[in-house]
Amino acid sequence: MTEMMRCLVKDKSEVGLWMQRRPIPKIGPEDVLIRIRKTGICGTDIHIWNWDDWSRKAVSLGIITGHEFSGEIVEIGANVKDLKLGQRCSGEGHLIGNKSRQARAGTFHLDPETMGVGVNTDGAFAEYIRLPAFNTVKLPESISDEIGAILDPLGNAVHTALSFDLVGEDVLITGAGPIGIMAAAVARFAGARNIVITDINQERLDLANNVVDAVTVNVMSQSLTDTMSKLNLKQGFDVGLEMSGSSAAFNQMVSALVTGGKIAMLGIPPSKTEVDWSQIVFKSIIIKGIYGREIFETWYKMIVMLERGLDVSKVITKEIPANKYKEGFNTMLAGGSGKIIMDWAH
Ligand code: NAD
Ligand code: ZN
Repeated sequence: MTEMMRCLVKDKSEVGLWMQRRPIPKIGPEDVLIRIRKTGICGTDIHIWNWDDWSRKAVSLGIITGHEFSGEIVEIGANVKDLKLGQRCSGEGHLIGNKSRQARAGTFHLDPETMGVGVNTDGAFAEYIRLPAFNTVKLPESISDEIGAILDPLGNAVHTALSFDLVGEDVLITGAGPIGIMAAAVARFAGARNIVITDINQERLDLANNVVDAVTVNVMSQSLTDTMSKLNLKQGFDVGLEMSGSSAAFNQMVSALVTGGKIAMLGIPPSKTEVDWSQIVFKSIIIKGIYGREIFETWYKMIVMLERGLDVSKVITKEIPANKYKEGFNTMLAGGSGKIIMDWAH
């Protein structure tokens, strides 16, 4: 008899996800089978839950969702040499090809053929996931299952924050969502001087204050330029990390940067937006778009930083058994939470 597992499926063309029973995946010679311990709910999962325009185009019905996970290896493909049964792990959710120029040059994160776990192929909101051994990342003992489950978004934060030299620099982060807050923690760890993080949601800024030593600004009620004067920033911020996807935040960032300032942009604007290009030109600003994590350099740096004291644990604000997933999604939908962890062992 085929062994079955619980999993969260996008089964209908309407709002929601559905807990179902499906056969445990069969693995190929280059794969491992991972028993999931914990998963994180991501903004992407919320898009899929809401069944918005993007997800209707990007996601096929019937897919198992989720891509932020930790677990342990319970089966190993015939050709996999360097992984062992029982190894705790997380994994890179971008499945890359090996044909493109970028992939063949080793810049895997730039591969245009990338497929997303839990978006284009069956994901991690399940008791088991099949993953190519190549995508598996071993977890050292010092990294908990909970932190293991949020290495994907922490990786977004690390990739963005380490895109430009931050040592001694003044850094502006727009958007105090979980990723913006973790980016502030990384910037602090990496040796930035002043770190200012903005949001329009006070709950998010309160969470930021709880996680990291940074100055928070609610741009609905406080002036960013006043904060800059208080910090004695005469010209502006050296580096901006855009983590909100809001065009208002992006334009505010451009105005608040020094001449020759740099922006790493992770936030995804929901549609085409208006940008003051002349300011960008006259200020000679460099803008870098960030997608995913550098495979696997971001993972390497992230794990080393966590082992050396980077602490983002307080960004996790709720943990629930997987069967109570609706509670987790509803908390996320309310907009003020940090990371929410689902436990698949219970
Ligand atoms: P989130 O939605 O939880 O956080 C975004 C925050 O920005 C919210 O707290 C919101 O209140 C705030 N915000 C809105 N308008 C603002 C403004 N004018 N000024 C300052 N803050 C404002 O998102 P998250 O999960 O932390 O992710 C951050 C961003 O990164 C999102 O846009 C997400 O879509 C994007 N993302 C991109 C990638 C990638 O690979 N490029 C990966 C993951 C997430
Ligand atoms: Zn994610």
